[in-house]
Amino acid sequence: MKLKNQLQGLPPYQPGKSMEEVKQQYGLTEVVKLASNENPYGCSKAVKEAIAIELDRLALYPDGYARKLRETVARHVGVKETELIFGNGSDEVVQIICRAFLSAGTNTVMATPTFPQYRHNAVIEGAEIREVPLTEGRHDLPKMLEAIDDKTRVVWICNPNNPSGTYVNEAELSAFLQQVPKHVLVVVDEAYYEYVTAANYPQTVPLLSQYDNLMILRTFSKAYGLAALRVGYGIASEALIQQIEPAREPFNTSSVAQAAAVAALGDQEFIKQCAAQNKEQLEAFYRFCEENGLFYYPSEANFILIDFGIEGNKVFQYLLERGIIVRSGNALGFPTSVRITVGTEEQNRKVFAALAQMLKEKQLV
Ligand SMILES: *Cc1c(COP(=O)(O)O)cnc(C)c1O
Repeated sequence: MKLKNQLQGLPPYQPGKSMEEVKQQYGLTEVVKLASNENPYGCSKAVKEAIAIELDRLALYPDGYARKLRETVARHVGVKETELIFGNGSDEVVQIICRAFLSAGTNTVMATPTFPQYRHNAVIEGAEIREVPLTEGRHDLPKMLEAIDDKTRVVWICNPNNPSGTYVNEAELSAFLQQVPKHVLVVVDEAYYEYVTAANYPQTVPLLSQYDNLMILRTFSKAYGLAALRVGYGIASEALIQQIEPAREPFNTSSVAQAAAVAALGDQEFIKQCAAQNKEQLEAFYRFCEENGLFYYPSEANFILIDFGIEGNKVFQYLLERGIIVRSGNALGFPTSVRITVGTEEQNRKVFAALAQMLKEKQLV
């Protein structure tokens, strides 16, 4: 058989170790997973009940247009129902965008390091990938602008950026959008939107009326705590949504996921509390780093990238053996860092204790 060239040698997603595997391997009774930026407080209590109702209807296909969810999100975000596209996680919306816009002979511009799914899906479509290094952990928008040419179809801005946690501000984004040629789609991935507290973080929804070539991505996987159910969405002009809809599978979000997302969106108090606790705990991480002379990027998300000055894999392994799963920076383009999801106060205390011990043992302080 002959695969597409671009699939040859393309590594599949490497799933992290499961909590069960880690428990068994290291003989631990408790494991804390702070590797995938999931919500450590779970999800809204309203979700379980909404799912229970769906359990009586599992034989039926879901609503392929996700009407109820569409209505609820449209009202929440302040857009028309026709300005939304839903995906099996925002990952799938990324895939839909790539299917719709990219092919051999086109190119796509993104930062590096950034969220790997932009690149991965673009590679599969055969597009040329133009990666512009972050400067001081932040998107270099002027350089990204220079990378655009008449073959460019999509530019990706991860805001805040995963894995650095940094953000593009309002002035920077608006200057960028003004200069991007109209034939280029600009995707702003706001997976961590609910956690952002910076006053000059751009409000992108009002920009949609000005820019037909803008698409915003949001998800229920992070602050809403529904990562298992896979729901995310894109927001863009009605014309753009209509154009990419044929690239979406007809029943791509399940009825269980749709119902859960509606319920989750109805509980904004939960989101507010999670965001406030995240902020408080992020500050505990900042204090820990400052007390121990560790470099970090201030984060607008629910994770923090910390530079230990030694191989990220070593820090990862040290924590793993003590029942704490994080993401090594080796795989993320920051080889001497690790990315840690901000957990609950109790989880973070464990992290700080283990890290303090590590710094002492390795004589890093
Ligand atoms: C987690 C994450 C996503 C993926 O979210 P899903 O909706 O679960 O597919 C998208 N973008 C970024 C930047 C993320 O960190």
